[in-house]
Amino acid sequence: METKIYKIEDCAACFGQIREAAKIIKTGGLVAFPTETVYGLGANACDPNASKKIYEAKGRPSDNPLIVHIAEFEDLYRIAGDVPAKAKLLSNAFWPGPLTIIVKKGKAVPYETTGGLDTVAVRMPDHKTALALIRESGCLIAAPSANKSGRPSPTLAAHVKEDLNGRIPLILDGGEVGIGIESTIVDLTEETPMILRPGYITADMLAEKIGTVWTDPAILTKDTSARPKAPGMKYRHYAPKADLIVIEGKKKNVIEKINALTREKQSQGRKVGVIGTDETIGYYQGDRVLTVGSGKDVDHIARNLYRILREFDEMETDVIYSESFRSFRIGQAVMNRLLKAAGHQVLMAKDNQGDTKIV
Ligand code: AMP
Ligand code: MG
Repeated sequence: METKIYKIEDCAACFGQIREAAKIIKTGGLVAFPTETVYGLGANACDPNASKKIYEAKGRPSDNPLIVHIAEFEDLYRIAGDVPAKAKLLSNAFWPGPLTIIVKKGKAVPYETTGGLDTVAVRMPDHKTALALIRESGCLIAAPSANKSGRPSPTLAAHVKEDLNGRIPLILDGGEVGIGIESTIVDLTEETPMILRPGYITADMLAEKIGTVWTDPAILTKDTSARPKAPGMKYRHYAPKADLIVIEGKKKNVIEKINALTREKQSQGRKVGVIGTDETIGYYQGDRVLTVGSGKDVDHIARNLYRILREFDEMETDVIYSESFRSFRIGQAVMNRLLKAAGHQVLMAKDNQGDTKIV
């Protein structure tokens, strides 16, 4: 199958291409499209065979449910068996936007879309092309991230092409995404809402609207026997080809520790990669040193992280050392993805290991 790529800069000017994409969705096919979080791989959520095609194209385990994307608030009532008051409050506050809510499934959504669950994940993306595609297709669109299972989510159309070329008929190229990591998922089916996946919308932002919100303890621990409530979170998700280790501590100590580890590995003939920031990369002696952006701009780091991880897979490195990007807001979600990619390998950098002067 040939994979076409249409550049969409302006939805009105590109309406012909969006209509063609919508026709593919309507007739049971797959289209990759941009959203504000990452690129999605879309199909008609109400057509069991279309959903199955998503799993096949991605190589996704069939127990990992899909998020249903909508363009109108009323569509929530088409999808959900029951719309709790908190779902109304959250959708009013954060849609369109990077928040997925989980509610009881209505009849319109088949089990092929929900991985056999009686609940369904729903989101309204904040992206003109995504909304135009949903509206023009007249469908609810099931769309997981448009990567091959086990690869980082795509933040550029080129990433989708890398993973799915020849497996899907069309990619809508909307340029680089705005946020760069997947939506926050909050489960509203229990008494107290629970975050199943951290993202741009934080627990504090949710609590301000609906009161107490818990976070699934299984996503905060490195204990792999803890079973996360979102089926997809139990998978490693992405493991770089090289061993990835995160170094935590004060900036100066982290740089010294990474350089000491780099020297040690290089003396054994190993190639070393380093993930730093604009402010720190000049201090590193790794064979491949990449920046995720300014350490002062965690939004930028979120947008760059998956691209950098993909770039390392193209390079010959045996081990990658990464700085830690813990911070408030989206920093929590960034660290969740980085630690997962690292298989939770973390080293602490202590004081007095060298004399690097940080300016
Ligand atoms: P992706 O679309 O690739 O970002 O993955 C969707 C994520 O949402 C996966 O981690 C799924 O396990 C999770 N998810 C989707 N539907 C549900 C649901 N009904 N209950 C719990 N988690 C869900
Ligand atoms: Mg995904």
